[in-house]
Amino acid sequence: MSQKSRFSRQTIRRAILIVSFLLLPATLFYISPIVILMGAAQGIATGSLLLFTALFVLSLGVSRVWCGWLCPMGAWQEICSPVMKRRVDGRRDRVKYGVTVLWLSLLAYLFIGAGGILAVDPFYGTVNGFSITSLDTLMMVGFIFFMIFAVAFVMGRRGYCRVVCPTAVLMIVGRKIRNAVGWPALRLAADAGRCIDCGKCSKACPMGLDVHGMVREGRMESAECILCASCADTCPEGVITYGAGGR
Ligand code: SF4
Ligand code: SF4
Repeated sequence: MSQKSRFSRQTIRRAILIVSFLLLPATLFYISPIVILMGAAQGIATGSLLLFTALFVLSLGVSRVWCGWLCPMGAWQEICSPVMKRRVDGRRDRVKYGVTVLWLSLLAYLFIGAGGILAVDPFYGTVNGFSITSLDTLMMVGFIFFMIFAVAFVMGRRGYCRVVCPTAVLMIVGRKIRNAVGWPALRLAADAGRCIDCGKCSKACPMGLDVHGMVREGRMESAECILCASCADTCPEGVITYGAGGR
């Protein structure tokens, strides 16, 4: 892929993320783990639950592409990224596994308490399909986004994705299953022999990963990689490739 088309791929990715962020007033209730719990308390499988299930299935082939290309929470953190320079301490990544276990336990508890899944309602909580329809909801969303900003500001780049988000964990599990079996999937690969150690790939990584180290260690697989392709598109030597492959 030429340097020009590489840059245009990132332009397209950022444009998609901005559109995703702007669509939030319509889409929020279809992507919220909190709305899933609200529905579960009434025995309702919400649009969010359907989406989370679909993301898990998709992750068997494309890992965390959702995080890198489509998620409005990820988009928000990238919009704010000029003030978030530091990398997340990798040990904090584990916190989100605890968050996810708690969230799944609460989900099961609520569904059991409601007598199981009694109905499926993709439009649960929305008005004419729109999520944010009142000042109260808007204020609540403003608070949530302030908290996401605060977490990323304190923890580091994409700190919410790395430290808190339960959706990420579902996709990481999907990726682990894929890796165990080894069927073809979207992935990074690198030719370390061509690397000039400039470090541009690490600087470009929105997840704050040490991509240069990954190249040097011949280990291009990471649970925290969101397959955004920023590293591949930044590398001046074309060391990193992005595409489908086995193993
Ligand atoms: S390693 Fe590359 S593809 Fe993965 S998140 Fe970082 S920049 Fe994106
Ligand atoms: S950007 Fe490319 S050449 Fe520079 S350190 Fe990363 S892999 Fe090596």
